[in-house]
Order: sequence, then structure tokens, then C-alpha cells
Amino acid sequence: MRIANAGGRLKLLVDGGAVDVESASGGRFAATPQAVYGRFSEFRQWASTVGQADEAFDPVSAGPPAPDPRQVFGIGLNYLDHAAESGAPAPEVPVVFTKYVSSFAGPVGEVVLPDGSVDWEVEVVAVIGRTARNVPRERAWAHVAGLTVGQDLSERVLQRRGPSPQFGLAKSHPGFSPMGPALVTLDEIEEPDDLELGCEVNGHPVQRARTVDMIFPIPELVSYLSRIVTLYAGDVIYTGTPPGVGMGRTPPVFLREGDHLHSWITGLGELDQRFVRPPTPG
Ligand code: ZN
Repeated sequence: MRIANAGGRLKLLVDGGAVDVESASGGRFAATPQAVYGRFSEFRQWASTVGQADEAFDPVSAGPPAPDPRQVFGIGLNYLDHAAESGAPAPEVPVVFTKYVSSFAGPVGEVVLPDGSVDWEVEVVAVIGRTARNVPRERAWAHVAGLTVGQDLSERVLQRRGPSPQFGLAKSHPGFSPMGPALVTLDEIEEPDDLELGCEVNGHPVQRARTVDMIFPIPELVSYLSRIVTLYAGDVIYTGTPPGVGMGRTPPVFLREGDHLHSWITGLGELDQRFVRPPTPG
């Protein structure tokens, strides 16, 4: 099953287009995309009975598939070679931070470049589908509603300013968390533990990796987090970026006005961001 957020309304994607969930369910399920995660298994049952598309789906005008989670988790340094290019040793436990919801955006759009050095980080994003507390790793996938494509855009100057890193703010400028185009449930994914992901800047490949190389695979992240906090249905987890970010290059490369960033995960979809300068006042 694939679900998406079009104009703030929940859509079920079917062959050839989409179905508006609130209309097609006669109001049984709300239009608000975030609400579906609280009733995910019931929704999946209903969705399996839906037939034909009644409208087109255009990723250009889509929003993030989980636009308003109670909690957002980001995982740092979750691939060995990315830890190395960041000058950090491999972590012994997951490195966890948050991104703020105000940075969320849909799969396609413009991002205004703030001052500093803006870098790319393609990531698998997992959305929780069922409350998770003290979940063992073997049962962790059952608490995941599905996966989508994300970019954890990061401003490296602020990120490194001060005596300890400022991940949360530096990764939360407006538009710094694009996601989508759809939430894809695990039954549609051949091997959820081994997805290929990557991104290109102006057509030039910069990241390409497989999630099998994660230091802490997604079930381990869910299990680990659930032993410390309660994960709620609809919570969003950015699962970490592979090697190839701009700050790890010699010399470092950062995003500039006019750049186009294309990100993809095989089987999940793609993102397209264009970077612009803030309009000059007056
Ligand atoms: Zn990241």
C-alpha cells in the first residue's frame, strides 16, 4: 500500500492515480494525513478493498506523508564510511537528535538557502505505525507503518558552532526536511533491510549506498529508541545518511543558488529540491 498527502488530504495511491480517502470511505477515515497512523491496521484492511483511481496524483503539489508527528528522531553517523568522512569514530550506540516539524516539506520544491554551508543527506525515513515501548529487535518491523524518501538538509556552520553540536537547529531551517512522495508499506518492499539509496547534485552522483551497510539497522533503531522513550503512531525517524556528503569532500562542496538536488530510494520514490536565495528586501 502507498499513501500520500495531496493538499493536506490523505490519498491512497492505486494503479493509475489516487483515491481521496475521506470521500471514498464515506467519512470513516479522516482527510488529515497524520490521523491515519493511529488506526493503521484498520485502514490497511479498508484500503485492500478499494479499486480504481478517481483522480491523478502529482508529487509536485504533495506534502510529506506524515506531516505532523508528535516526535521526530534523527540518527547521526549511522554508516561507517559517513562516520569516517565526518571525522568521527563509529558510534557504540545510536547518535540521536531531533528535527523540528516546521522544517517539513513535500517531495518537490524550492529551499531557501540560509547563511552558512548547506549540505545534502539522503536518508530512509521510517514512520511508526503502532505504539512502541520496549520492543525487541525481532518484533520492531511490526511497529513500522512504512518507509519513505527523506533529505536531512544540514547547515554545517551552525551544526558545529559552540562547545557541543547543534544538530536540531542546523537541520531545521524551513524546507530542510523534504519527504515523500508516498509512505510505502513493507509488503511492497522486497527487502526492507537492503534498500539502495542515493542523490545527485545537478545530475552528478554524490551519494549511493545500501541500507544493509547501516551500523544500526532500522529494527535496531526502533528497538533502541523504544527502550528509552515511547514511540507513538505517526512518529518520524530519519535513519541516517550514507557517505558522500559535501562536507566530507576535499575541498568541501555545499549547495548553491540554482542547484538541483535529486534524491531516490529504489522502490520508494524520489525527491527534487531546487535551491534559491532569499528574496532581497525592498
Ligand atoms: Zn542525517
